[in-house]
Amino acid sequence: MPKRQDAGSVPAGEKSPTTLDPADWSATRASAHQMLEDILDHLQTRADQPLWQPAPAAAQAAFHAPVPREPTPLDAVHASFVANVLPYGSGNTHPGFMGWVQGGGTVAGMLAEMLAGGFNANVGGRDHMAITAERQITAWMREIFDFSAEAGGLFLTGASQANFVAVLLARARALGQGVRQSGIGPARLTAYTSAAAHGCIPRAMEMAGIGSDALRAIATTPEGQIDTAALAAAIAADRAAGMQPFLIVGTAGTVNTGAVDDLNALADIASTHGLHFHVDGAIGALCLLSDRLAPRFHGIKRADSIAFDFHKWAQVPYDAGFLLTRDGPAQRQCFASDNAYLTRAETGLAGGEWWPCDYGPDLSRGFRALKTWFTFKTYGFDAIAAMMDQSCALAQTLAARVAAEPRLELMAPVALNIVCFRYRDDAPEDTLNASIVEALHAEGRVAPSLTYIGPRRAIRAALFNHRTTPRDIDALITSTLRLGAAQE
Ligand SMILES: *Cc1c(COP(=O)(O)O)cnc(C)c1O
Repeated sequence: MPKRQDAGSVPAGEKSPTTLDPADWSATRASAHQMLEDILDHLQTRADQPLWQPAPAAAQAAFHAPVPREPTPLDAVHASFVANVLPYGSGNTHPGFMGWVQGGGTVAGMLAEMLAGGFNANVGGRDHMAITAERQITAWMREIFDFSAEAGGLFLTGASQANFVAVLLARARALGQGVRQSGIGPARLTAYTSAAAHGCIPRAMEMAGIGSDALRAIATTPEGQIDTAALAAAIAADRAAGMQPFLIVGTAGTVNTGAVDDLNALADIASTHGLHFHVDGAIGALCLLSDRLAPRFHGIKRADSIAFDFHKWAQVPYDAGFLLTRDGPAQRQCFASDNAYLTRAETGLAGGEWWPCDYGPDLSRGFRALKTWFTFKTYGFDAIAAMMDQSCALAQTLAARVAAEPRLELMAPVALNIVCFRYRDDAPEDTLNASIVEALHAEGRVAPSLTYIGPRRAIRAALFNHRTTPRDIDALITSTLRLGAAQE
């Protein structure tokens, strides 16, 4: 045991007797190299493993264990991960994964996560390079969306949080910053989005204290876009009834079918009525990287704020959501507070001009910018754009295959990379498609999800995975036809 000493007299290099650092660094290095080998093996052979399989009782039991008072060797902990977790994931790294809207992750992003873990920066504030790296991502996003140097940018867990922060910005714009102290009081705020908007939009209204009743779900066109005439009428009606319209949320890629609202028309309506125009671009905003896809998002650059997810189509490992805001200083007024323990300095570690904790709800924050930076630097924006183009091409291939099969029926127009279809089922309960999807998951080769288009169930293939190929599309069609025919 080292001798006890006054803190001031501990020589540099002497270890704390209670440190958690390795006693044997070379053994730890060997373990670390093995972990890297194992996870790279897993990714390299991912297509050969089942997409999904239920975790057996033994794996479950490993995570219903008593509190571990005593240490376990690192290799044994890793062995438990390899045996009990790794084979039983949610499948989104597999090329046949097309259920829900999820990215597949990348090797560069994974390695960056490891490096960020070792670096262990708290990116809430202060003067250090992780802050600068986050600013770099913001600068790139400003450039993509033609936002000025005043624009704010902030990593958040995902678009759900980014949309929530946007509602708070719009709320402050309508009621003044005093709303932070006074709450919304008697104000009768109303917001507008389409009936196809993501469920996090009403939840954001609830969390903002405005309530989801004050969110008008405007009808959609047959293409799944917000009906802009109905929107204008709803705003006028609310105004006439003494309400205070304050926010329009457009969707750049709806979660169910991938429809893109007429964002330019929404920008016009918002500017006519002086409303905050926010875009939920969780799915589609980053399509601006692609020359082919960008024109479909005309008007997005006029938004007051845009929420999007690097962890979906851009393949950055979870989680990496982002909010870009036109008025950075207003965003700061919405969140910054004076706390003694966060006093700023002119110089030194407590310096720095931009503290993320002044711009959103989080104080402690991880280094999400690093895996995002690694992803964009390693592959380049053009490769991400080409992969997005390819996803949309695969969606068209799938839609054409569906159209060519008499037993299958396309359920919604395919605007981007989401295809909703069904096996024609004459049973009134319409249960066949649900059982097809369940059987597909159990087979572990391809995994679409199940949704509703109107009252009808539909099989939903959301093609966000950079590993998906035409063979996966073919497997989806042939397996669906086989399972459907067997159950008819
Ligand atoms: C996924 C999604 C969200 C929610 O984003 P998270 O990153 O899961 O929080 C919001 N809107 C749309 C359109 C989405 O697809």
